[in-house]
Amino acid sequence: MIRRLFCYTLIAGALAAPCARAQDAQAVVKTAEYALGMIRGPQRIDAINTLEYWGTGSTYAFGQSYRPDSAWPEFKVTYHASLSYAVPAMRVDVTRSNPDGLIQGGGGLPLAAPQRQIQVMSGKFAWNESVPGAGFIPGSAATPTPGAVNDRLLQLWTLPFGVLKMAVKAGSAAKVTTEGGATVITFPLSGALQGIITKVTLNAKNQPERVETRTSDPVLGDMVTETTYSDYKDLGEITTDVQFPSHIVEKQGGFPVLDLTVTKADPNNPYVVFPVPDNVEKAPPAAVKVETQKVSEGVWYLTGGTHHSVAVEFKNYVALVECPLNDDRAVAVIDAVKKTIPNKPIRYVVNSHHHFDHLGGLRACVAEGATILTAAENKPYYEKVWAMPHTLSPDRLAKVPKKPVIEAVADKRVLTDGTQTLELYHLQGTNHADTMLIGYLPKAKVLIEADVYNPAPPIASPGPVVKESVNLYENIKRLNLDVQQITPLHGRLVAISDLRKAIGQN
Ligand SMILES: [Zn+2]
Repeated sequence: MIRRLFCYTLIAGALAAPCARAQDAQAVVKTAEYALGMIRGPQRIDAINTLEYWGTGSTYAFGQSYRPDSAWPEFKVTYHASLSYAVPAMRVDVTRSNPDGLIQGGGGLPLAAPQRQIQVMSGKFAWNESVPGAGFIPGSAATPTPGAVNDRLLQLWTLPFGVLKMAVKAGSAAKVTTEGGATVITFPLSGALQGIITKVTLNAKNQPERVETRTSDPVLGDMVTETTYSDYKDLGEITTDVQFPSHIVEKQGGFPVLDLTVTKADPNNPYVVFPVPDNVEKAPPAAVKVETQKVSEGVWYLTGGTHHSVAVEFKNYVALVECPLNDDRAVAVIDAVKKTIPNKPIRYVVNSHHHFDHLGGLRACVAEGATILTAAENKPYYEKVWAMPHTLSPDRLAKVPKKPVIEAVADKRVLTDGTQTLELYHLQGTNHADTMLIGYLPKAKVLIEADVYNPAPPIASPGPVVKESVNLYENIKRLNLDVQQITPLHGRLVAISDLRKAIGQN
């Protein structure tokens, strides 16, 4: 009905400019709120303040595919979310288990046992119930995750109720158009998510059917997150007339990150509260820190965060192994290299594999003028994603565009100048990533590897044998590498005997 009120111009003149009038947009939003049972009666009484919902399905590890450009790897999950729009706050309690069939890809797969994760956001704070180094332990102390606040807020505000509340807040900034016969409301989010443009497509019953946002990702640039909500029902234990989707599918970068069948939804439980733990409230802001440790002549281990790098000095240049995470980390690593090895350009940057946490800083290294060495399969993918728009949060490369120089590595590549040598090999037989390279420094007898062997802190009790680490050791033997030390890109500097111990071969 409403549609007819303001869109007659469009219906009359098929391809005319979409009609968009602010007051009409708010009328449409109100219709959608009624459709969900969010408001009752002629007065706008907002009936949804808190919400809990439960479901089963799958989550997928974004950016952790086995091959570049393929779908994110799956975990099976049971899922329980609780949220409050007033705070705003959200707690997601998920138990993940391995998918069926062959397990390939990163993100922690395969799991040694089902794993429970509790991730919380409250106001401007975010944390996980986890123990650093030991992972998620429900009921344990909180580990602050300040970098996750906005992602979790976005999740809260793009659920059906939240997105309509945000549309109301947008006031006259909300516009309505018609696309393919469907009503679309477009508006900017507010608060900490200010400026993120959100598009809500309504179904024939005026319920939000599809919500689309764009946020900045270090790899994909202006990345689309689209969530579809279908099969709305009253999912309350007692009839509430509140309609919630029984199927939620969220996609990022074109592939699902969540596919959830909702079995129960309970609005307005007054006991949904989110006290911020003291250590989270008092945690200092996350700072990018690079610690430099000389491992051998011309070899430096760059640590200080979650993802490490190794700088290798040649006569006339530096080769940097790994430029991880994002622009901020990459710039800090580049600066540390320049300070440690002054007056030599970073000519090569080696990329261990295509997982987003390991490739996220590469654009900054391209901007630095370095040639990227990566597995052959990655080259077309990197060329494709790096050409995509990065306008929402322009990084170094977006500000000073440069054509990336990428040299593909097949089975082996050697950089040498007679004094220093860095050998790169394709890691065979791994299920972590098909594009995995390992590095070997024959003079220093040092091996560089990512993700397939992450040594735990020395005091930790030994965990189960990880198949990927056994495979790494088999590759070392296959290639006849005389390894004495390992500089893992996660964890700490260890001796080859530590790897042997970890795989039960001492
Ligand atoms: Zn990985």
